[in-house]
Amino acid sequence: MSLKGTTFLESVLQTLKRATELGGYPQEVYEILSRPQRIITVNIPVRMDNGKIQVFTGYRVQHNNALGPYKGGIRFHPEVTLDEDIALATVMTFKNALNGLPYGGGKGAIAVDPKKISKRELEELSRGYARALAPFIGPETDIPAPDVGTDPQIMAWMVDEYSKIAGRNVPGVFTAKPVILWGNPVREYSTGFGVAVWAREAAKKVWGGIEGKTVAVQGFGNVGYWGAYWLIKMGAKVVAVTDSKGGVYNPNGLDLTAVKAVKDKTGSVINYDAPGTRKVTNEEILELPVDVLVPAALENVIHKGNANNIKAKLVVEGANGPTTADAEQVLHRKGIWVLPDLAANAGGVVMSYLEWVENLQWYFWDEEETRNRLERILLDTFNRVMIRWSKLGTDNVTIREAAYVEAVDRIYNAMKVRGWI
Ligand code: NAD
Repeated sequence: MSLKGTTFLESVLQTLKRATELGGYPQEVYEILSRPQRIITVNIPVRMDNGKIQVFTGYRVQHNNALGPYKGGIRFHPEVTLDEDIALATVMTFKNALNGLPYGGGKGAIAVDPKKISKRELEELSRGYARALAPFIGPETDIPAPDVGTDPQIMAWMVDEYSKIAGRNVPGVFTAKPVILWGNPVREYSTGFGVAVWAREAAKKVWGGIEGKTVAVQGFGNVGYWGAYWLIKMGAKVVAVTDSKGGVYNPNGLDLTAVKAVKDKTGSVINYDAPGTRKVTNEEILELPVDVLVPAALENVIHKGNANNIKAKLVVEGANGPTTADAEQVLHRKGIWVLPDLAANAGGVVMSYLEWVENLQWYFWDEEETRNRLERILLDTFNRVMIRWSKLGTDNVTIREAAYVEAVDRIYNAMKVRGWI
């Protein structure tokens, strides 16, 4: 336990423990799933533009592969820790299992600020990471993808480096690649689309529909922007958005295109100015009187210190781990639905799965067909989680716990038939 309360890894393990108890699974299930199968540490020397060598440390955590190859993103961030990487890899195992994908979970990270190194240095580092991991990854072994601080260009360098080592083109070893290099156009907005689909489906249960409901989005990056975009398309009213500098609130609704233009021009949504709009901080946005709150930036932003002030009825976790375990209990007691990360932000990894299927068969669907396939998988997960939640008892069990039980059930059965337990 840290001074701020439960750490992300502690929260994940607490939920896993409770899920194994709720589902009546043997204690061995917790013993196996509470630690990763393998942790790889790599040290990558890069010749920097100043002529000197700098050595970067990175990880790949391969958490569990009972259901299939490890799958999960790679994070480039100056403050990554192994603990955080383990937590993220663990969540990937449950996220992939929950969504019915033939994958286990993994996650990678390098301690670097990608904005503070040159493009050439970034390419060297990305290629170095792919080389160092080449013996441990592959389309049927471990399939990384982007996360915070990494993007399709980095995936292109990595898939190129891996392919050089393999001596042939291997498109399926990384996903979320540029469209020209065996990617798919839906990947760009798939996580935000999934956030919106989950919000819409939950809203149907809570109010009969999402139309006219007010939404606040913390984080205006890939997930936040596209989540807002699709929510508006589905009939909701986005009234507040923030990025790392803070943001804006207009109870009558924001013009998303205009806000995006300001962000692109000035670097932040905080510079957006229109009648009836006022500035909000990243703390305030969480406590606004809205129907739907989408935390789509960082971990642990809803904690026991502010949980009591949340007014939204639906919290849709675009980010990974934005709600601490203690805060979630408070929200649950208040009757607030928290749509958990492993479900609500799974659009990206489900889309990665579809891209991987395309890559394995060298055959590509068009955008609409891909999006329909993506939506079908998300809806199937939503319905299974709702059934599981209602069977377990909505008063005493959170949606996250129900989702974990649903996920653990698949992993447990796979481990059982494999003879692991
Ligand atoms: P991104 O880098 O595109 O965007 C992050 C946004 O958060 C930026 O607008 C940034 O300004 C803002 N931000 C940074 N610090 C902030 C702060 N203190 N308060 C408010 N906003 C702040 O990243 P992303 O890809 O949108 O990822 C966001 C979250 O979603 C992460 O937790 C990530 O793990 C998770 N996620 C992303 C994907 C994906 O496909 N991109 C998939 C699943 C989960």
